[in-house]
Amino acid sequence: MNISGELLIGRHAVRGGAGTIHAIDASTGATLEPPFGGATPEQLDQACALAWQAFDTYRETAPERRADFLEAIAANILALGDALIERCVSESGLPRARIEGERGRTVGQLRLFAGMLRQGDFLELRVDPAQPERKPLPRADLRLRHIPLGPVAVFGASNFPLAFSVAGGDTASALAAGCPVIVKAHPAHPGTSELVGRAIRQAVQELDLPEGTFSLLFDAGLAVGQGLVADRRIKAVGFTGSRAGGMALMAIAAARPEPIPVFAEMSSINPVLLFPQALANRAAAIGEAFAGSLTLGAGQFCTNPGLVLAVAGEGLDRFLESAAASLARIGAQSMLTRGILRAYCNGVGTLAQHPRVQAVARGQAGNDMQGQAALFCTDADAFLADEPLRHEVFGASSLVVRCRDLAEIRRVVESLEGQLTTALHLDAGDHDAARTLLPSLERLAGRILVNGFGTGVEVGHAMVHGGPWPATSDGRSTSVGSLAIARFVRPVSYQDMPADLLPPSLRPDSPQRHTWRLDGKPQGQAD
Ligand code: NAP
Repeated sequence: MNISGELLIGRHAVRGGAGTIHAIDASTGATLEPPFGGATPEQLDQACALAWQAFDTYRETAPERRADFLEAIAANILALGDALIERCVSESGLPRARIEGERGRTVGQLRLFAGMLRQGDFLELRVDPAQPERKPLPRADLRLRHIPLGPVAVFGASNFPLAFSVAGGDTASALAAGCPVIVKAHPAHPGTSELVGRAIRQAVQELDLPEGTFSLLFDAGLAVGQGLVADRRIKAVGFTGSRAGGMALMAIAAARPEPIPVFAEMSSINPVLLFPQALANRAAAIGEAFAGSLTLGAGQFCTNPGLVLAVAGEGLDRFLESAAASLARIGAQSMLTRGILRAYCNGVGTLAQHPRVQAVARGQAGNDMQGQAALFCTDADAFLADEPLRHEVFGASSLVVRCRDLAEIRRVVESLEGQLTTALHLDAGDHDAARTLLPSLERLAGRILVNGFGTGVEVGHAMVHGGPWPATSDGRSTSVGSLAIARFVRPVSYQDMPADLLPPSLRPDSPQRHTWRLDGKPQGQAD
């Protein structure tokens, strides 16, 4: 499949008429062909009009048909073969093995939602049958299902050019829910975006779905993304990126005559807590594993361990020595974009110049497209006194905070903003200490993990990739795992509705009903 640089508006591939974006090879800085045209206001309007037209038809497609659609997208992505992998490696600077793994995750994610659609329980059907004889008042017949919100705008993330981008978790969950999707491609990987966009468009055609089910737009500035969020036909937004970007889109969404939800995954420093017994038993091993997690993908993970908390002492010193020795062996790595590299260097520079922060170690230096890992150390008083020390430095940089005791660790934890993850390194003798911190940690993060690091997010049913603000804009949701679909549906209740007017899934003896609740009690498959 060739890359043409065109927008995909429904079934049409058209040249964008508002400015030009050039793809850049993230490892060399070279410009890649072809140029991509940004969408004009008219092209944006066409995509929104088609999405709105598609909505009522697409949302009533049987879940099995949407499952076939998601599986067709997965198959079409795989069929792109090496062309996709090579373009994605080139645009992202990420190693081939990582991109191949990410493709597997993307395809697996689509199939997970397909399986969920076949099972049907995401509709959360409920039936409270009429009780005409009830005293003092009869009860009406009430039937509930979830319906999709409407067309969804998705902003692809720079750091996961496949799994959080055009066919990533936001798109997969919105399409599964029955929402048409318009993707605003991330300018760091436009060629990858077009290839994947074409794979989705092909699946739309294969399943004979309305053409407005999917569109892909490029933006040579900010107008397309902002116009998309402001458009009255868009009913929800999925976003992964910076806090500033997420907050700007939230402000636009909130200022609309009809405000809409923005599910933004923004910033997190993912505190790692090292408990005394674990440090006494295996500080060096934890230090080595930490350095590996910190530098994975040049540290460009939202779950990157950017903060380490521990009680000062010999165990923490051994952890630092080991982490420093490991980092010194790790080469510099290409970063996704020049802008992200610049932001990383600025963040590291600010820490390096901070009067109360000490440099512990640096990774190996590289060329001017590469980020050099960095590890810093401070004490709890300095950390608590200086709010900017709590900000995310996106990349392979982390700050270790020496605390006097567990009470001081708790004070630091309580000072933090919402996080995607927090990781505890502990042995049996640490359980009592960990137990006392758990209520604070539950309030802090969407995922609490033990003896590991947050990098490597399993796509499953029990995963939460979310957390209180600013980790996400809405801590009640997740952007990874099957629960992500809940962001794009809302409940509707039907009272005393004649059977022939009810949606098929709610009719008595519906063959479309899978799991459901009768008077609040879970029921199995309807026969
Ligand atoms: P970004 O600047 O937030 O951009 C993400 C997407 O949102 C892009 O498509 C961007 O479009 C769009 N966007 C951003 N601000 C906008 C605005 N005001 N109006 C309309 N659209 C807007 O994120 P990024 O480019 O991926 O990386 C920049 C920084 O974000 C990084 O240095 C890092 O700090 C942070 N980041 C964090 C995570 C995380 O998971 N925590 C992930 C990725 C990035 P344009 O690029 O076309 O402007």
